[in-house]
Amino acid sequence: MFRIGIGNDTHRLVDGRPLVLGGVHVPTSRGAEGHSDADALSHAIADAILGALCEGDLGVHFSDRDPLWKDADSLQLLSRVMWLVQERGLLVVNVDATIMLEEPKLRPYVLAMRENLADTLGVEINCVSVKAKTGEGLDSVGQGLAVKAQAVVLLSGELRPS
Ligand code: MG
Repeated sequence: MFRIGIGNDTHRLVDGRPLVLGGVHVPTSRGAEGHSDADALSHAIADAILGALCEGDLGVHFSDRDPLWKDADSLQLLSRVMWLVQERGLLVVNVDATIMLEEPKLRPYVLAMRENLADTLGVEINCVSVKAKTGEGLDSVGQGLAVKAQAVVLLSGELRPS
């Protein structure tokens, strides 16, 4: 039995914030604005998992009004989503994700992101794909205004009722 989920996330880029993607701090002058650490990649993957579980979205589980999640490490949020996966009797099979960011180039950081995510999801590194694209100077990504991420995840197991 398999279950598939899709996730998307967008954060505005602003001065004076860190840029965290898959738990990796990417050196840059403009970081992602948000209540937590604004890790768009971890958020997209968490949303994809919640989608596969039919458990709503990240905002349902981790409100952006809750002071508990202020500047939260999003890998910790992802760990909590993994508790749900385990509780429901499922396993992650694989994740495929794309980050959309104009600059800097992300290739030097992708392996560390995959390692962090694989650890958090309890899978081998070859089960976590992270790709990086630019916006070719077009749209909000291309103009350096936003970072976006998309993810699909496949879970396996017999879904237990919540
Ligand atoms: Mg987000």
